[in-house]
Order: sequence, then C-alpha cells, then structure tokens
Amino acid sequence: MPELPEVEITARRLTSTLAGAEVESALATGVATLKTYDPQLDRLAGGRIEGVRRIGKMLAVDIDAGEPLTLLVHLMSAGRLQVFDRRASLRDRRSRLLVRIADGRELRLREFGTRQSAWAKLLRRDDVGADEMVATLGPDAFPPPPLETFAELVRQPRHLHPLLRDQRVIAGIGRSWVDEILWQARLSPFKKGSELDDEEVERLHDALPLLGEVIDHYEEVIGESVPDKLPMPLEVHRREGEPCPRCGTTIEAVFFAEHQTNYCPEEQTGGRVLKDRRLSRLLK
Ligand SMILES: [Zn+2]
Repeated sequence: MPELPEVEITARRLTSTLAGAEVESALATGVATLKTYDPQLDRLAGGRIEGVRRIGKMLAVDIDAGEPLTLLVHLMSAGRLQVFDRRASLRDRRSRLLVRIADGRELRLREFGTRQSAWAKLLRRDDVGADEMVATLGPDAFPPPPLETFAELVRQPRHLHPLLRDQRVIAGIGRSWVDEILWQARLSPFKKGSELDDEEVERLHDALPLLGEVIDHYEEVIGESVPDKLPMPLEVHRREGEPCPRCGTTIEAVFFAEHQTNYCPEEQTGGRVLKDRRLSRLLK
C-alpha cells in the first residue's frame, strides 16, 4: 500500500530515470483507469517528461507536450508506477496505463489483485490544483505542519486511526504508517482527536518525522528502480503476536473488513486488549 514515503521514493526514482525522456505514445489498457478525456491521451505523443512529483499519496508526471500537461496517478491500494526496459504485452492483465518512451522503455501503471481501482487523469498543468482530489487535500504529513495547525486539524471527535488516514485532514498517511505513528506517540487508535490533551497532540506531532526517516531508509536501500514490494521498516503494523520492540509486550491486532490495526496494549491502551472483530469479518 503506497503511502507518503513509498510514493515519494517512487517520484524521486522516476524523475531521475525519466527526466528529459521523449514520449512516443500513451495507451490506457485498464477499464475506466483514465478518468479524463480532455486533453486526449494522444496529446502526450512527442512530449517530453519533465519530472515526477508527489501530491499527497498521488504521483504527478509532468510532461511538456507543446503545453504543460500533468498525468495525475493514484495507485490506490495495489498500484505501481514503474519503468520497464521492454514494452508490456497487451495481454498483461496487470497493466492499466502505458506510456511508451521513444528509447524503447515504458512507464507502466500496473495493479496487483483483481480489482481495478488505480486511476489516472490527464490534466492541463494549471488545472491540477483545482482537481477535486488535489484541492481537498489537507497539509502534507511530512514535512509536518506547524504544531498549532496540526492541533486544529486533529481536534475532531473522530477516532485517531481513521482521522489520520483522512487525506482531507492531513495528506500522505495510510493503513500502515498510521499504526507506526500512533505507536510512536503511544496513543490508542481508538482515542478521539478531541480527547487529546496538549501533551498528547505534541507527542502525535513529534511522531510525524518518522515518515521522513522512512524516506531516508528507502534512499539507502532502494536502487535505481522501486521494486514491486518495498522493504517497509515497520515495527508494529501486521506484527501481531510479536513482542513490542520498545517494551516487549505482545503486539495485538484489531481486524476490520479490509484492514487491520496493530498496537501495543501496555503503552497505547492502558493495558487493555481491544475487541477483535475478526469473527464478524469471517461471518460476513
Ligand atoms: Zn510496547
């Protein structure tokens, strides 16, 4: 699940390999992957890739095609945007969007699993900021917003786990890193933002730079291209049954229909083990 650090390293690596490359053609192979029709994808032919930026959890491929255009890509939960030396077979079921480079390479949006939820929009550069997915984003989680701004954002009567993953509140955090941030801050995923005292807000704010440390980690361990599976340095997420790296207490999990949250009961929930919803998940 690509979140802020994974999307950031992807943007950096794509920029270093693609900046200046000429587009030969582009083709959307996924069902309804391309959400826009003006400008048409054909406009990219002959254009030059300027670079790739991260906007929240989205990637923005800037292409000069006579006019400045941007291919905005959301990887959703299982998408990858990668460069391949050879072109994909059109039978590749994972392909969603192909941008063929004049030198024979190909920038390919692929998606693992059966669902087709990753999407792309081709926009005029000036219109990117007004796109609903961009315009509604909260400030980036890294670098963190000032403490006062952050305090205003999180003091809402909502559980911290969904609150911090809400891109309109703060951008870049998803199901993996939210667990790590809450563990770092020693806060329960089920505590409400409005229940935090000043010291707890500060602890939560102080945990955000871990996203930057993860980017630094990727910079060190990832080579020229980003692999399908990133070496995510997770301490608690998906580590139920293992000892907490800080205090040794067994890490617990709460399972939901499509995700799970992990926490250290000793340090985050006052010693309480929260109700496991796995049974209701299996009965669905
Ligand atoms: Zn612990």
